[in-house]
Amino acid sequence: MDKPDYYEVLEVSREVSAAELKKAYRDKALELHPDRNPNDPQAEERFKTCAEAYAVLSDPNKRQLYDRFGHAGLAGGGAPGFGDIGDVFSQFQDIFGDIFGGGFGFGGFGRRRRDPNAPTRGADIRTDVSLSLRDAAFGTKTEIDLSHPSPCEACHGTGAEGGVVEGCATCGGRGQVARAQGAFVMTTTCPACHGRGTQAKSACGQCKGSGQVDTERVVKVNVPGGVDTGQSLRLTGQGQAGSRGGPPGDLYVTVHVEPDERFEREGFDLIHRPSVTYPQVALGAKIEVPLLDEDEDATTTLKVPAGTQPGETLVIRGAGVPRLNGRGRGNLICVVDVAVPRKLSREQKRLLKDLDESFDGS
Ligand SMILES: [Zn+2]
Ligand SMILES: [Zn+2]
Repeated sequence: MDKPDYYEVLEVSREVSAAELKKAYRDKALELHPDRNPNDPQAEERFKTCAEAYAVLSDPNKRQLYDRFGHAGLAGGGAPGFGDIGDVFSQFQDIFGDIFGGGFGFGGFGRRRRDPNAPTRGADIRTDVSLSLRDAAFGTKTEIDLSHPSPCEACHGTGAEGGVVEGCATCGGRGQVARAQGAFVMTTTCPACHGRGTQAKSACGQCKGSGQVDTERVVKVNVPGGVDTGQSLRLTGQGQAGSRGGPPGDLYVTVHVEPDERFEREGFDLIHRPSVTYPQVALGAKIEVPLLDEDEDATTTLKVPAGTQPGETLVIRGAGVPRLNGRGRGNLICVVDVAVPRKLSREQKRLLKDLDESFDGS
């Protein structure tokens, strides 16, 4: 089956801004939300398709690929297929958090009320890594220092001394409190125990009752060759620890490639601007140009044909950045820059004048 156009799915123009895109997605997500459309598999399918469209179009790299190549551009794992509706929620917690407001969450719609004592997956962590052009091109192993809160081990994240808790006095251990409002009785999460139904006999001394402590650790990261600025590496299970036996979250590492003196990077192509003298371009020459290689001093010989003009490009095929999927490399594009000398000797001046005069007759 053909995939629908992502822009059409979200009913936005191809020039849509990030803010408009987010708003369009929120509107769609609210309209199609499963809690509002119970037992409607079509709405659920469309809800997932919208999430997929938003995941692609909100990522500048994926959006560019999609704009240029359509769905085929995302074939290498770019498009997130949302198999399970729960995936959609975990992917976009920030957006859904905005929509449904603080504390209300999805449970507010009644279908999936969260048990506050159930195992909870740890939060994802986002961090950044700076890489040299060479490391980004060929891949590297690096280490990242992380500092983040994690559940206090002394009290197992409960905030209670020795993990000893007793039933919450406010809600009688139910985790919910009832409040009459007109003809209705509203049930809300107990503000005293945040729905846990328990409270500490006394606060944990290690974390002062917060249940969290600051943790520092070092994470080893294997960076694959070919990554570029803005791309994120996902390290499964390297996020914050889960609580009450829940699995840990994931770590997302966003790559930043440092500028390089010799090369500018454009996708998988590299641009180098060799400086050539006027006689070299006029007569033709062989010049040495640097190569991006695991060997720092690698060079190759570039033939500059006679009559090459300033700004003309000479391409060395396959000397660019290795592609992420391992299929070949981009090109090295040499943009010829003709150097004009700032100082000349008397002899050089005489030669240039003679040369100039020789052009007059032609
Ligand atoms: Zn309570
Ligand atoms: Zn503690």
